[in-house]
Amino acid sequence: MYAGTPPAMLSANGGASGPFDHDTPPEKPAGHYSRSRFERVLRAGHFAVTAELAPPDSVDPDEVYRRAAVFDGWVDAINATDGSGANVHMSAVSICALLTRAGYSPVMQMSCRDRNRIAMQGDVLGAAAMGVGCILCLTGDGVQVGDQPGAKPVFDLGSVSLLRMIRYMRDEKRFLSGRPLTKGPEVFLGAAENPFSPPYEFRPLRLKKKVEAGAQFIQTQYCFDIPLFRRFMDRVCDMGLHEKVFILVGVGALPSARTARWVRSHVPGVHIPEECVRRLEQAQNPAAEGRKLCVELMQQIKETRGVSGIHVMSPRQEQYLGEIVKESGVLGGRRPFCRGDPQLPMAQPAHHGV
Ligand SMILES: Cc1cc2nc3c(=O)[nH]c(=O)nc-3n(C[C@H](O)[C@H](O)[C@H](O)COP(=O)(O)OP(=O)(O)OC[C@H]3O[C@@H](n4cnc5c(N)ncnc54)[C@H](O)[C@@H]3O)c2cc1C
Repeated sequence: MYAGTPPAMLSANGGASGPFDHDTPPEKPAGHYSRSRFERVLRAGHFAVTAELAPPDSVDPDEVYRRAAVFDGWVDAINATDGSGANVHMSAVSICALLTRAGYSPVMQMSCRDRNRIAMQGDVLGAAAMGVGCILCLTGDGVQVGDQPGAKPVFDLGSVSLLRMIRYMRDEKRFLSGRPLTKGPEVFLGAAENPFSPPYEFRPLRLKKKVEAGAQFIQTQYCFDIPLFRRFMDRVCDMGLHEKVFILVGVGALPSARTARWVRSHVPGVHIPEECVRRLEQAQNPAAEGRKLCVELMQQIKETRGVSGIHVMSPRQEQYLGEIVKESGVLGGRRPFCRGDPQLPMAQPAHHGV
């Protein structure tokens, strides 16, 4: 591994350089909101793949780089979670800062649980300054589901008001107070959606609200129920939302029936039909069966009208991501960013999350 020095910090002339002195950020393409590679892939009409990076409980940057390295050549962006499940880990903004230094395109997740609007506006500026091009706006899990239920929940904003705030900072180049910014954040804005949480008829309306507030891409909760998902997408397409927002659908490989049951009862908003659990229970090799199920779901999701990509969330199964993506064929032979890949112009060192 890199002993703490990401390859992007090694300049083209071979020597270690300062983090930002070797590279000229690319121009933001016309009609784009960020310089992010993820936005370019989606706007080019490719089927995108993103993956969630498990945040370390450590100060060691190599733990971030090791976890990111397993995604090389398979994903178009890496999501850095923000205290998901209301459990503390290394912060999303720090993980993104490390990732951009190594040329990765991160999606910074922002939950409203722990910070008020003053802190969040400061973090948006700082993240954009460090090259973060994509932000996923979340209300966030409540403190009661985490390992520190006595923590004070903030929720000064929610996902919709957070989207509106960052869009205002980007488009009007002002803080929420109206005070001008000398340079606004160039960011591609996203939000989460859960098509599998009742009342189902409310879900497309919630999505519409997020799109109107500024969401340009969506990453959904885990999909294990294709018929339910297709009913959601039919409504989304009837409302024309698929033409206004890129929708990436959450998937994950379940390693056992026991894990499936645990996730179903402990992770808020996750719906796993009993037939999926039974399939794992009856398999000789449940972990391999879980990956096979994930591959089949990805293929069916790709065939669903209005879908722009897949978002893989597989905690402790990240080493199988390449195998799952390859088996599914969803990339159609396309090879996403691989650090240090000489054939890819997009793999050049860059700190602007390209
Ligand atoms: C892809 C993904 C990534 C995530 N990452 C994180 C993370 O990094 N950190 C973290 O803390 N959490 C994370 N979560 C969890 C998520 O923030 C919570 O599950 C949240 O309650 C729902 O998503 P949201 O934040 O977009 O909430 P919103 O859509 O803004 O909903 C917030 C609130 O609205 C109300 N609401 C929502 N749906 C309904 C409904 N059907 N009927 C009535 N009221 C409703 C509820 O009170 C809910 O708590 C993630 C979820 C997803 C799908």
